[in-house]
Amino acid sequence: MHNIRNYAVDTQCVHSGIKEDLNGSVTTPIYQTSTFKFRNAQHGARLFKGEEEGYIYTRMRNPTVEAMEDAIAVLEGGAKALGCASGMASVHTLLGALLSAGDHIISSESVYGATQTLLTNIMPKFGINTSFIDTSNLDAIKNAIKPETKMLYIETPANPTIVISDLEEIGKIAKEHNLIFAVDNTFMSPILQKPFDFGADYIIHSMTKYLNGHADVVAGVIVCKTEDQYPSMRKMLNHFGGTIDPFNSFLVHRGIKTLKLRVMQSQENAKKIADYLNNHPKVQSVMYPGLQNHPQYEIAQKQQKGPGSMISFELRGGYDAGEKLMNNIELIQLAVSLGGVESLIQHPASMTHAGMTKEARQKAKITDGLVRLSVGIEDVEDLINALESALKLV
Ligand SMILES: *Cc1c(COP(=O)(O)O)cnc(C)c1O
Repeated sequence: MHNIRNYAVDTQCVHSGIKEDLNGSVTTPIYQTSTFKFRNAQHGARLFKGEEEGYIYTRMRNPTVEAMEDAIAVLEGGAKALGCASGMASVHTLLGALLSAGDHIISSESVYGATQTLLTNIMPKFGINTSFIDTSNLDAIKNAIKPETKMLYIETPANPTIVISDLEEIGKIAKEHNLIFAVDNTFMSPILQKPFDFGADYIIHSMTKYLNGHADVVAGVIVCKTEDQYPSMRKMLNHFGGTIDPFNSFLVHRGIKTLKLRVMQSQENAKKIADYLNNHPKVQSVMYPGLQNHPQYEIAQKQQKGPGSMISFELRGGYDAGEKLMNNIELIQLAVSLGGVESLIQHPASMTHAGMTKEARQKAKITDGLVRLSVGIEDVEDLINALESALKLV
């Protein structure tokens, strides 16, 4: 077959990673097995010594898992990918593989809630500390670099504020200071943003979101830019044990076939909804990279292939208005998570980011009236009508 890496992304979504079996299957079968038989003692010994390619035990390698990993490596333009049991398993495996006690991380101040908690409350137990910085401000990043700084951990667009950090410029800072540059690309998916093109060394995704896209799997992935990064990352994943199972790998791989279609359709809907909200009297402000009033609109134009389908907006009525909207909205489901075919809405101050202190929330601009909307692929008029009816009651 033609090298899949030379095809357009639409083709890659459908064909990358697919491994036919002995019967000529068109999709990769589910190898729902925990372990693999050796042909004889010598074969087992050769596999364990790494002298021969093959499967030993599913935590270490599994054909269905590998097929999905290969697909994501192709889509991100990386050398290798590692499927994980959740997005959080990806984050902690990444940190565990690359950092040691005494090392320091600079992270975006507005990051996924559980990442925030991991970096604030758990990693310090292992001697790894984090400074949370407004990474849309390049000087703030430079000023936060200490002799022990090892990693820049960037989420862009950030959750839930949709603040955008300049990947190209941050890539330069990372290079100049010899820092590992890791990007959480969950909100964009490889369809809309390719962090390796801007100097990132590692990419992580919560595959629970766009990559799987159907709100029926929790999974994550680490993508290594180069081959040489892979063996130590694989070793850490095998020993931390946060690996994905064959069935979830199959579901994610199945989801990837329609990734481009889903991402583009939900983005078309989101553009219209952002315009609608931007003109609504009960909405104070809308954070959406497709609107020219987004503070980092120009950077989004440079590094994103589109604005995506995550919108945050600030209700004039604060916390109470947020609560009322959540309680009165129809069709758009009140649930955390994002990136699925179904639209979801949530209120960060009382939900995903309730674990942060009020001061930390204020610093990260996660205000009481902030609402996060993940736009799905439903009919856009139905979605706008649902918002219209609920906003009347706010
Ligand atoms: C959901 C999410 C995570 C965590 O992923 P899980 O699959 O829930 O463990 C990390 N980063 C971002 C941006 C997310 O949206």
